[in-house]
Amino acid sequence: MMATTYKNLIGGEMTDNGQWLDVVNPANEQVIGQVPACGADELDAAVAAARAAFKTWSKTPIETRRAAVQKIAAIIKENSDELMRLLTSEQGKPHKQAIGEVIGASMMAGAQSTLDLDDEINEDSETRLSRTRRVPVGVVAGIVPWNFPVMMAVQKIAPAILSGCTIVLKPSPFTPLTTLRLAELIKDAAPPGVINIITGEDSLGPLMTAHPDIDKITFTGSTATGKKIMEGASKDLKRITLELGGNDASIVLPDADVKKVAEQLFWSSFTNAGQICVAAKRIYIHEDIYDELSAAIAEYAKGVKVGDGAQQGTAVGPIQNKKQYDRVIELVQDAKDNGYKFLVGGNHDPDVPGYYMPITIVDNPPENARIVAEEQFGPIMPLMKFSTVDEAIARANASEYGLAGAVWTADADEGVRVAEQLETGTIWVNEFLHLSPFAPFGGHKQSGFGAEYGKEGLLEFTYPQVITVKRDKVPA
Ligand code: NAD
Repeated sequence: MMATTYKNLIGGEMTDNGQWLDVVNPANEQVIGQVPACGADELDAAVAAARAAFKTWSKTPIETRRAAVQKIAAIIKENSDELMRLLTSEQGKPHKQAIGEVIGASMMAGAQSTLDLDDEINEDSETRLSRTRRVPVGVVAGIVPWNFPVMMAVQKIAPAILSGCTIVLKPSPFTPLTTLRLAELIKDAAPPGVINIITGEDSLGPLMTAHPDIDKITFTGSTATGKKIMEGASKDLKRITLELGGNDASIVLPDADVKKVAEQLFWSSFTNAGQICVAAKRIYIHEDIYDELSAAIAEYAKGVKVGDGAQQGTAVGPIQNKKQYDRVIELVQDAKDNGYKFLVGGNHDPDVPGYYMPITIVDNPPENARIVAEEQFGPIMPLMKFSTVDEAIARANASEYGLAGAVWTADADEGVRVAEQLETGTIWVNEFLHLSPFAPFGGHKQSGFGAEYGKEGLLEFTYPQVITVKRDKVPA
């Protein structure tokens, strides 16, 4: 069977360069599509189209730009079923989670479209009028990972074009199909060149970072790549927004309702097969309830079906790609080599096609275990015991990352007291994974630089420009 080919969007046209990259379904390792393998020439063409469009788009009234974002939100919603199926086939997530991502992306764009970029008056006195206006930075490059390809693409496109910037977006080579289908669907939502989507290997990323006519990079991906982007962007001081990795801790206080939280804790870790930057990757449980809660989580885990996301009943899909699969296998092997106890899982079947890892939960490994100290990004999780709240806070904060965290307790005030001592950009009390389109989302420490979402995220696509007018003091 011939794999379907998908084209790039450059200057309002769907194009290809005759060179192709294969895209694989992680549920069965079959090639399901091909996308253009672009390099410097196609990037130059996309940047030139974005630069040409910027001239007019940056001067287009915000109401028109808002309408374009709303149109995109509507198109995604109208085509959600098709996009959901394609997303599952390339990313692996079960249909229910795929539709959540697609509809979530539509809602995110809709919510972002309501934001404003009003001028601010700094001084309005007898002697001076000083006003800050927001001007778009220019041509933006968006670089996206493979865990939430649709959501991440939309959360970069929407604020970029609302602000008056134009964009060249690069999906991950592992998950470009849904984004290119989306490109075809939204091609006419904004004038040609405002939105460009090009595909290629990882090597296309550094070309974007180095491109002299790109003004800003908005990136979501690993901390290692984020550092390279910061270094590349330093050459001509491109603006950057970096959403990077996390090793997010949950702290369960002794008063938490074990029956209520077991299932929620499970999904805070295993949604999207654990491949979420803000998934709980370390769960610290107070010693008074450790045995009962860890047994309840393990019991729940046994009823969760791992399999092909396109099949009914699957709750956890495969790992998205071979590289990540091998990394997760290595972390599990390390836990075995060190003699850590597994509450569930630990043994994958190498003879089954697809990148499947059973739900794996490790019982109270030491703090320096690789499965605790590193971002796993897979369906494997350590549960750890603590004695005092201060100790749990110190252990949670002993990380170079600072993305998100959660506190679970019957006492919300105590939850907030603990939350305020955690060194992360987002902390949930008694919930998980909720991100508001109106709240800034960004990592502390090595989990990021700047923020996305909300007014703060939108402002990152603009420069402040202050215009001061001297007024002659009227003589008395
Ligand atoms: P990655 O850094 O390998 O790749 C991300 C993107 O960068 C891809 O499009 C890739 O092609 C591109 N890229 C690779 N090398 C590049 C380079 N040198 N210069 C420029 N671009 C380059 O990350 P990944 O493996 O796709 O995604 C997983 C990581 O992303 C995890 O660490 C996860 O925590 C993180 N993540 C963070 C967030 C967040 O919002 N903070 C969200 C999702 C994922």
